[in-house]
Amino acid sequence: MKVMVIGNGGREHALAWCIAKSRRISKVFVAPGNAGTALDPNLTNVPITATAELIDFAKREKIELTVVGPEAPLAAGVVDAFRDAGLKIFGPTRYAAQLESSKDFAKAFMQRHGIPTAGYQTFSDAAAAHGYIDSRGAPIVIKADGLAAGKGVVVAMSLEEAHRAIDMMLLDNRMGDAGARVVIEDFLQGEEASFIVMVDGEHVLPLATSQDHKRLLDNDQGPNTGGMGAYSPAPVVTPEVHARVMREIIMPTVRGMKADGHPYTGFLYAGLMIDAKGNPFTIEFNCRLGDPETQPIMARLKSDLTVLLEHGVRGTLDKVEAEWDRRVALGVVLAAEGYPDAPKKGDPISGIPPEAEDGVVFHAGSTQDEAGQVRTNGGRVLCAVGLGDSVRMAQSRAYALADQIHFAGMQLRRDIGARALHRRH
Ligand code: ATP
Repeated sequence: MKVMVIGNGGREHALAWCIAKSRRISKVFVAPGNAGTALDPNLTNVPITATAELIDFAKREKIELTVVGPEAPLAAGVVDAFRDAGLKIFGPTRYAAQLESSKDFAKAFMQRHGIPTAGYQTFSDAAAAHGYIDSRGAPIVIKADGLAAGKGVVVAMSLEEAHRAIDMMLLDNRMGDAGARVVIEDFLQGEEASFIVMVDGEHVLPLATSQDHKRLLDNDQGPNTGGMGAYSPAPVVTPEVHARVMREIIMPTVRGMKADGHPYTGFLYAGLMIDAKGNPFTIEFNCRLGDPETQPIMARLKSDLTVLLEHGVRGTLDKVEAEWDRRVALGVVLAAEGYPDAPKKGDPISGIPPEAEDGVVFHAGSTQDEAGQVRTNGGRVLCAVGLGDSVRMAQSRAYALADQIHFAGMQLRRDIGARALHRRH
């Protein structure tokens, strides 16, 4: 069986790595991939990104299944185009991907279907937005409606900050079209977790839970990033919380999309805020796997991912279960100098340890030059994942891997997993 993974991040390296473990696989293509997928003898990079070329390639190579990593191609309709061409692909249609690509769409959907989320209103007029903020008070959250690569959200702790965010998005147009409309949302308090499931239009297969670390610096300080590390499972998602998330958030979403005439297919990611009483609220939906959550999740998946994906495409996810490594997996992101504002590219990377039974380093923003030297090529460069019988063991394994790696200006958090450790003791 031939499979193609679309994307070039750490998430896609982890997906392709996991798919390649299947005995049913003859070839795994990654389009366009990174240095990690290029170096892996089980994977083949394909230097294309345009949808029409991907379709031609998939037909020519007789690729039986395609999986999409990032949100941009999904929001642009890659799934619709593949299906129109008679090709099998796992992901949401362009319409369904609006659960991520338009925050106003997602909020209106949640309200219509009674899914717990923060109260909100949407504005395109700055004066009206300022008035609403004054009436609600701070803290309050301002979000650009469209895709903004994780940079479109301002959690304003003061009214002044909230007003500035409105001016930045609606008057100065600093987020472009993505910020032409803003969603203003009530501030939620609690602990965040990532809840990712596979959906076939009707049935749901939950993946292992996880927790991301969004801020650049230790103790959740510094600017927001794409994510600086993650571990799985997330102890905040107790069996009771898990059942409630499925009942109150995931199933109503899947049923709601079907009832609206646009069944959801693909990975669905609910970003949760779990309050002190264990009540789950939806902060956001993503229409794909999380990055870096995918790296520890895939490190724990013992089932054949191609089997799960095929059930996802066929509409038979109710016939299959996922088996997980009982160990904890913990991933530490190694980011480039200057990340997240202006990541420096081109620095040589050395010391990447080989894969072992209890750890693996996934690549993200990396490339190989003509001489074969691996260099930095993006904000988040690598993710070192350790596996262990406890959070502490997984953590020390992940940092042991990370500490062998060198590149100029490397940034990493030293406290990935601290929240889980705190909970357990
Ligand atoms: P991502 O990069 O995860 O896709 P995004 O740009 O889509 O992010 P959100 O996930 O909606 O934005 O918000 C980013 C972060 O802001 C959240 O992870 C959370 O920490 C914080 N946040 C968002 N909404 C709220 C809220 N209503 N109350 C408190 N914090 C919030």
